[in-house]
Amino acid sequence: MSNSNLHLLEILVLPEQIENELDILNSIKSKTGICIEDIKEWRIIKKSIDARKSPVKFRLEVEINLNDIPFEPIHKPVYSNLQPTLNQHAIVVGFGPAGMFAALELLKCGIKPIVIERGKNVRERRRDLAKINKEGIVNPDSNYCFGEGGAGTYSDGKLYTRSSKRGSVEDVLNTFVEHGAAEDILINTRPHIGTNKLPGIVESIRETIQKLGGEIIFDCKLTDIHIHDNKIKGIETSNGFMQTENIILATGHSARDIYELLEKKNILIEAKPFALGVRIEHPQEIIDKAQYHCDTKNPNLPPAYYSLVTQAAGKGVFSFCMCPGGIIAPAATAPGEIVVNGWSPSKRNGKFANSGLVVSVDENDWKDWQHKGNLSALYFQKEVETKAYLAGGGNLVAPAQKIKDFIRNKESSSLPECSYIPGISSANLHQILPAKVRKSLQEGLIYFSKKIKGFDSDDGIMLATESRTSSPIRIPRDKETLEHTEITGLYPCGEGAGYAGGIVSAAIDGIRCAKEIAQKKTNPKV
Ligand SMILES: Cc1cc2nc3c(=O)[nH]c(=O)nc-3n(C[C@H](O)[C@H](O)[C@H](O)COP(=O)(O)OP(=O)(O)OC[C@H]3O[C@@H](n4cnc5c(N)ncnc54)[C@H](O)[C@@H]3O)c2cc1C
Repeated sequence: MSNSNLHLLEILVLPEQIENELDILNSIKSKTGICIEDIKEWRIIKKSIDARKSPVKFRLEVEINLNDIPFEPIHKPVYSNLQPTLNQHAIVVGFGPAGMFAALELLKCGIKPIVIERGKNVRERRRDLAKINKEGIVNPDSNYCFGEGGAGTYSDGKLYTRSSKRGSVEDVLNTFVEHGAAEDILINTRPHIGTNKLPGIVESIRETIQKLGGEIIFDCKLTDIHIHDNKIKGIETSNGFMQTENIILATGHSARDIYELLEKKNILIEAKPFALGVRIEHPQEIIDKAQYHCDTKNPNLPPAYYSLVTQAAGKGVFSFCMCPGGIIAPAATAPGEIVVNGWSPSKRNGKFANSGLVVSVDENDWKDWQHKGNLSALYFQKEVETKAYLAGGGNLVAPAQKIKDFIRNKESSSLPECSYIPGISSANLHQILPAKVRKSLQEGLIYFSKKIKGFDSDDGIMLATESRTSSPIRIPRDKETLEHTEITGLYPCGEGAGYAGGIVSAAIDGIRCAKEIAQKKTNPKV
């Protein structure tokens, strides 16, 4: 740090001390020897929980300032002061996190984004979501995955990522704060927005894009791509033809019709490994007790979290998208399938904890679908989702089983309370999941039940299927230019392209694709 009057240090404090300024200052004093009176300003710049042993503590990275020059703000807005001059355009297909951040970045680079989105804006989308929950009816263009903000709008809004691009992650988090997320996401090592806050943030990002000159067209679906000499010439949409030389294709991993279209047009796509399994749920209390090593949870601690991983029966088994205090969500994108996922409100104050529990699958698992060529993994995925729908008995009722009964391969005679709103019905999930997946899950669950006390108790339940953790297809692209390996001007982007997983990495991928288009437009190859 250049200013010798600024110091960074790490301290551990008990949960009851986290809101007490004097306790924190005393910890700083005992760690550094600096008198409290000499500290002009202090702030927490990273916060995490260390629950490895009892007592559970908060680990804080603290910055202290010993001079009179105030700290620079942690949050750095970008778009409030931006005044771009736009003289070119690019088309973005899909307005999920990848499409949203691609559009923002194009504006930064002086290019007008024209975004087409098959779904509706956040407000109108709500009516279709009510139909899913109340009547079990899925509109294939407007659901929990399709519409303004994509799958991100009604996601859980956990913003952690394995991306090592620190600067890019900070840019994405800062953009969320600029559009209404709490600044806490900039310091928390496990940043989380919450389903209740995301729709407003997404609307605010849309307003920024429009204010800066971008165009967003809802209810507009990409139906065909015009290509000549392996170059993009335009797109066909439900609203008609649009001429363009560059498309950012950010349609997500649930847009099966897009994969079918690419395959039909002989645009190279590849089946790729993905993960398949169930969503599990427990009373939050069980997880709190196990993870915080206590009988009664300290009210200063957030609802507890877990992350589980093992190798079982030759396959990776892992928890995914764990939602403390959350609910299980119906994430199907077409009639006749059950897809579950999870979310939680910003306060994570629901009474259940849910998580995906999935098994890695590869080409050996979808051998029976080999006749479908590049779409084989997708058909394998779809088959399991359809089986789950039929086992549930329709109307999005999900087949469910107690964890302990799944381990014993026995249908549950009764089911505990569950947060999934369309409802659950008892079924043996062994009859739905592929053989290797259920074997790995069974062994994995036995192992995880030793790690977390109460995991296989009477209240632990599992629902099929958690099948969309990642894309079963990759749309291959050049490592440098990010263009499709065979089609100039086609930028496969985000989760659906197989190059991202989750909100932040999809957003970063959107930014990268936009930058490449800008770079190409400024330095065209002759
Ligand atoms: C319930 C739930 C909870 C989740 N929780 C988290 C979480 O906590 N943290 C996390 O990181 N991730 C979470 N995810 C995953 C996250 O939402 C996705 O990884 C992310 O949204 C992917 O972004 P994307 O832009 O690549 O694709 P998507 O978000 O899928 O967006 C694609 C968009 O393209 C549109 N589209 C599709 N086809 C067409 C077409 N033909 N024409 C025009 N538009 C089209 C779709 O309508 C959609 O809006 C969750 C997902 C769900 C469903």
